[in-house]
Amino acid sequence: MKHLLDDVTSLSKIGPKKKEALLTLGIKTVYDLLMYFPFRYEDISERSLLEIKDQEKVVLKGYVVTPATVNYFGPKKSQVSFRMKINDAVIGVRFFNQIYLKDKIKLDQEIAIYGRWDAKRKNLAGMKVIATKNELQNDLEPIYHVNKKVKQSMLVNCIKLAIEDYLELIEEIIPNDLIKKYQLLDRKDAIHEMHFPSSYDKYKQARRRLAYEEFLLFELQIQDLKMKRHNLEGGRSIKYDNIKLKKFINTLPFTLTDAQKKVTNEICQDLLVPKRMNRLLQGDVGSGKTVVAAIAMYSVYTANKQAALMVPTEILAEQHYKSLKKMYENTDCNVAILTGSTTKSDKKQILENLKIGKINIIVGTHALIQEPITFHDLAFVVIDEQHRFGVKQRKILKDKGEKVDVLMMTATPIPRTLAITAYGEMEVSIINEMPKGRIPIETRWILRQQFKQLLEWSKNILQKGEQMYVICPLVEESEMIDAKNAEDLYLELKNYYFGNYEVGLLHGRMKSQEKEKLMDSFAKNKCQILVSTTVVEVGVNVPNATLMIIMDADRFGLAQLHQLRGRVGRGNKQSYCYLVANPKNEIGEQRMKIMTETNDGFVLSQKDLEMRGPGEFFGHRQSGAPIFRVGDMVNDYQILECAMFDALKLAENNYQNKLENKNLILEMEMNKKDVD
Ligand code: ADP
Ligand code: MG
Repeated sequence: MKHLLDDVTSLSKIGPKKKEALLTLGIKTVYDLLMYFPFRYEDISERSLLEIKDQEKVVLKGYVVTPATVNYFGPKKSQVSFRMKINDAVIGVRFFNQIYLKDKIKLDQEIAIYGRWDAKRKNLAGMKVIATKNELQNDLEPIYHVNKKVKQSMLVNCIKLAIEDYLELIEEIIPNDLIKKYQLLDRKDAIHEMHFPSSYDKYKQARRRLAYEEFLLFELQIQDLKMKRHNLEGGRSIKYDNIKLKKFINTLPFTLTDAQKKVTNEICQDLLVPKRMNRLLQGDVGSGKTVVAAIAMYSVYTANKQAALMVPTEILAEQHYKSLKKMYENTDCNVAILTGSTTKSDKKQILENLKIGKINIIVGTHALIQEPITFHDLAFVVIDEQHRFGVKQRKILKDKGEKVDVLMMTATPIPRTLAITAYGEMEVSIINEMPKGRIPIETRWILRQQFKQLLEWSKNILQKGEQMYVICPLVEESEMIDAKNAEDLYLELKNYYFGNYEVGLLHGRMKSQEKEKLMDSFAKNKCQILVSTTVVEVGVNVPNATLMIIMDADRFGLAQLHQLRGRVGRGNKQSYCYLVANPKNEIGEQRMKIMTETNDGFVLSQKDLEMRGPGEFFGHRQSGAPIFRVGDMVNDYQILECAMFDALKLAENNYQNKLENKNLILEMEMNKKDVD
């Protein structure tokens, strides 16, 4: 019996050799072949020769009207030429050094050739034979991603075989009412049309259907996860002491913003109900997420349970530790810190105290998941700057307790598109308001030649007793060069401000203790100018710093620039961000302009997504961005939204129990994406 998941060798003419080649494209089964779609199409529809510009690269289709002749002019230099009829015109075609074409070109044969058009001589300088007679399906020639082992023509042939023998096995998986509602192409037809479109319009319909299908499957999977989490796993009810909690909130040095109150309520509610919390707290840089985490962790403490806060850098761990200690200073809540540079003896003590529950709240870096920690009763995990952690890392910590509630925080605003895909299975809380008294940061873009002037101007800031950061050019993946650049700039500035202000240097290769010491002296204004690599990018909070200078700013992505800018404007003084850059291209220029135009992290992240794509946005695959075969999260956003809505409906109606959708469930199994 034939099955879609049959090995590719089940197809006649595919043997072990081809099988191995196809494997390099990730194709194992016949189904993989059918679902391996072209990434673009060459338009080979007939064009009038008159409208083609001189020297334009085109695909021309016609009939061979003279036999191919070969000329040699020098060793290894050859020319194959023949004439081709296109409608009523006859043109010359020439190929250089592709002698093997001589036998491929046959009189009277229909052929499509890609080449450069010479309008004056009515000649096509051929570069590639796109297709010959029997491969010529229609006006759109599919182009697949291939490699050295698999050539276009071989792949096309394999796909053809798969379609001939197996397409009939493809069954509809989308419920009928949805097919009708959106007038979707039948699944079989859609797959066929993707490979061999009978017209551009049909191709578009096929693509729309398959994108929708893919999004729907994905969203159903997310709904599944959500339900499983809610129903099966259950959770614990953390009965915190509301009176103590209110008292604690009143000791804070400021009143919470309305947005902070709202999200705090949402989080505390999650703690209270016996469901497992899986919540994402989004708030722009400086919106005050730390205090929200502090309150939530405090409430867990009042229920005699433990909480952990994991952050991506030691600097940040240190900073959070200090501010938590301060906030909890008049309570019995015991906070500790654990990082890669905690001494052995301290570590031993901390691990012991965590085990017996003497420590209520632990702040730390990756060390929290690397160390063999046993908690007395871990009930709540907060992950700050969660996008800096991989999916697995986030999971390990949460597995250290029983039915742990999880709160993830991010200052990199996630565009809605991504929020509902990568984070679709989470509840989302948003802080959409800044603490009172914040003055918008003024952002300006200057050229490198103006840097000296800027330094002159910076003295105004320093004279007022305020501080500044200077961020060094980022060199891809090389901390060594980063450090070197930072060092040079540091020496230059040290010289420049000599006798007036202190300059400090911070980079990733420094020992943790040195970093800590330096951050401390910057926080205490013992040092006024901090030259740094991007290690200060996330989380660092020194409200007295009001000037941020970013060197070679065009090398950074928008989200990152926004993060860096967010290091200033954290108090109630006017702050400035200067982007020093001579962008090499238009995109770089565009980025600088956008930065000067908006302070809104959500707008920026959307722009970033559009300009760099979702892969770039997340940095690495494991951070959870799903990869779709056909659909495009940015451009097909509306389809995605429909799919999300429909998946929710289907899930509510318990589609799993309905026989009519068994295909859908099978398909979900086959399409499982790594979402958790
Ligand atoms: P982020 O959301 O970027 O992590 P933080 O939690 O570091 O922001 O807070 C930024 C600054 O704002 C801190 O100095 C913090 O003390 C202060 N802050 C937080 N909430 C308020 C508030 N409601 N009113 C005034 N200042 C606040
Ligand atoms: Mg923060």
